[in-house]
Amino acid sequence: MEPLPTPAAAEALIRRQVRPLPVESRPLASLAGAVLAQSVRAERDQPPFDRVTMDGIAIQREAWRAGQRRFRIAGTQAAGQPPRMLPPGDCLEVMTGAVLPPGSDCVIPVEQIEVADGWAEVDPAAPAEPFGNVHTRGLDCREGDLLLARGTRLGGPELAVLASAGLPRAEVRAEPRIVIVATGDELVAPGEPIEAWQVRSSNSHALRGALALRGYGRAAEDHLPDDPGVLRERLARHLATHDVLVLSGGVSMGRFDHVPRTLRELGVREVLHRVAQRPGKPLWFGIGPEGQTVFGLPGNPVSSLVCLVRYVVPALEAAAGLAARLAEPVALGAPFRVKPALWYFLPVQLDSSPTLGTVAQPKPTRGSGDFVSLLGTDGFVELPPGPADYPAGHFAPLYRW
Ligand code: AMP
Ligand code: MG
Repeated sequence: MEPLPTPAAAEALIRRQVRPLPVESRPLASLAGAVLAQSVRAERDQPPFDRVTMDGIAIQREAWRAGQRRFRIAGTQAAGQPPRMLPPGDCLEVMTGAVLPPGSDCVIPVEQIEVADGWAEVDPAAPAEPFGNVHTRGLDCREGDLLLARGTRLGGPELAVLASAGLPRAEVRAEPRIVIVATGDELVAPGEPIEAWQVRSSNSHALRGALALRGYGRAAEDHLPDDPGVLRERLARHLATHDVLVLSGGVSMGRFDHVPRTLRELGVREVLHRVAQRPGKPLWFGIGPEGQTVFGLPGNPVSSLVCLVRYVVPALEAAAGLAARLAEPVALGAPFRVKPALWYFLPVQLDSSPTLGTVAQPKPTRGSGDFVSLLGTDGFVELPPGPADYPAGHFAPLYRW
């Protein structure tokens, strides 16, 4: 039998297969978290004019150098006003954000002047440097400079740059239409009466939460029984109306695990089934007839959440045109023994150590059904296959929930 792919190989395989999302134009106010599908250049020099950075007076350094310390206040230059000329030998009162009045080349802050009867007396110790307290035109960027490239995720700084480039809208990747599908006859929704032998449906909520925290806040949801006929009919509908299907359960070797066969029958091409990892070994991934991304996550709650973070999120990022990022390495805060000959996803709690900085304290669960033990953890680290002993201080990539 061929060896199963490693998590890194599985991720790479998935990234290569996902179809890019369509591009759409959206208004600036709706772009937080979106991924740019266009480049953005500077509309003007930044700053666009010699900009005063302190409230004070604008003077000519020539006069200062000649020994002048008292200046007649000829008027005011406020932010947003067109430039006014500085009469030679005088000063103009200036405000932060104003244009430096033509004819002046230095701003003395209010803290260093005394004003009386329309005259400003400057502290002789004031530095009065050339273009002191002035942010000169074009210092930050020049008109036409490339500021944002395609494939940039828009957060605060990027949105400020978009707005300053004068763009009321931008081309971004459309939000994927995601549906989360729980499968299993035993599952009962919160709020419904439950028998002792039944199980609360929790995966969809964990998956929805992890997606929402990453900006994918609009996933649809369904619950399907372990019935091949119903699965087939409902999955066909979901394939017709969604870009991404995230199923949980029904992908293992049990007699009622109908998901992989049903998906194949619906024309979903199997790309991956099983990864050399624990938990989450039965992971299934395929591509639908129209390029839909289809994940069959193992039903055990720890497995499904780990697989969402490790594979579904990178797939969504790839579909949006984001480049792959390396997971941040973090040091183990205590030794840990990996027994199985499989890559191991170990839940951890982040903690700070005086010598190692941030460390990951191992918080193993009692198996992949024990989601209660995930409480208080921040994510998981990925350790290479065992049997092996990893000492405290061993660095491993961290994936946050
Ligand atoms: P499966 O992958 O369908 O064999 O399910 C493995 C285990 O996970 C079983 O104990 C299921 O009851 C449990 N399970 C499956 N789906 C869910 C879910 N949506 N919420 C909570 N537990 C689940
Ligand atoms: Mg099941």
